[in-house]
Amino acid sequence: MSLPYLPFARPTIDAAMIAAVGETLASRWIASGPQVAAFEAALSAFLGGRPVRTLTSATGAMEVALELLGVGPGDEVIVPAQTFFAAANVVERVGARTIFVDVDLLTRNIDLAAAAAAVTPRTKVLAPTHYNAPLDPLALADFAKLHGVRVIEDAALAIGSHAGGSPVGARGDLVSFSFHPNKNMTTIEGGALVVNDADEAARVERLRFHGIRRNPDGTRDVEVAGGKYNLSDVAARLGLAQLEHLSAWCSARARLAELYFEAFADDELLPPERLPLRENPGHSWNMFTVLLPLGQMAMDRKAFMDALHAEGIGTGLSYEAVHLTTLFRSRGWREGRFPVAERIGRETLTLPLFPEMTESDVARVAGAVRRLLRTNPKP
Ligand SMILES: *Cc1c(COP(=O)(O)O)cnc(C)c1O
Repeated sequence: MSLPYLPFARPTIDAAMIAAVGETLASRWIASGPQVAAFEAALSAFLGGRPVRTLTSATGAMEVALELLGVGPGDEVIVPAQTFFAAANVVERVGARTIFVDVDLLTRNIDLAAAAAAVTPRTKVLAPTHYNAPLDPLALADFAKLHGVRVIEDAALAIGSHAGGSPVGARGDLVSFSFHPNKNMTTIEGGALVVNDADEAARVERLRFHGIRRNPDGTRDVEVAGGKYNLSDVAARLGLAQLEHLSAWCSARARLAELYFEAFADDELLPPERLPLRENPGHSWNMFTVLLPLGQMAMDRKAFMDALHAEGIGTGLSYEAVHLTTLFRSRGWREGRFPVAERIGRETLTLPLFPEMTESDVARVAGAVRRLLRTNPKP
């Protein structure tokens, strides 16, 4: 009997969510409107009251954040070399320069000492990712103050994470979240930007919608060349329904992660430095990643992923080292600069983890991983 295919990520969508989205469609008010306002208010309440504006993606939110801060040609933005491509791409899109720094092996978060060493008079922004652990809000605030820079936290993976006793996003400067289906809650596509005050919120509203400002006489004016990044009411209604379950889903993820740790605990091919940080308070466990012991394996990573796929187990690759992409090689970045980021990029593999997984799903994945680590590839 063959088991159902287990993807590496899968959003939870229940009948109540489908009904809620159906009601929004039936209302005929389907683009930005009351559901967007309600979703933004709910996110703000979840994040301790700070202003939140939704956008069509986290990538869009980060691009708008850079525009909000006036980052452009001549400016530098410090980004970890091991993260998703989005942060570095949007820096390039606004015409600024991406300055990469290395990351920590276990948390995969930016090495703040390396970031401090990379600061120049042109540095405008630090853009670290909450990766395999929440970033420390006090350390980020100290960094910003000491170096006179703004911070854009890439919290795409971290909706539902807590740090220093409060939700990620409740403190700090600008914080962006993603609601892509692989994240801890979804609006299909979507994102949000947490800002500091009503003035920043109003500027984000203009940057996400054609730069439009309404005049008292009912006409419209445009002062800045805004884009088109507003979320739809249909998406926002799904987000509202998802947000109610976020805490329970994060708890389920933490329980499943602990089962992985138990299953790998006595495996000498997967010692603790090849696993995520196990004592990780506040972490939302968007992913469970392992670093493959490629030197001790008969298969390379691609063959290993293919072998798992053949058994009905999906895996992900999160992420390649960003400075080694063709784009950033063309900017002069090369191998050898960031050994930790490069090692993670070579060895990392993301195992299935989503709230509806069962204990036996984890046992199935862990068993297959342990066996295939010791198996020769099919000829
Ligand atoms: C998913 C992800 C993004 C991009 O999110 P979108 O909503 O798809 O734009 C950015 N950064 C990180 C770290 C991510 O994991």
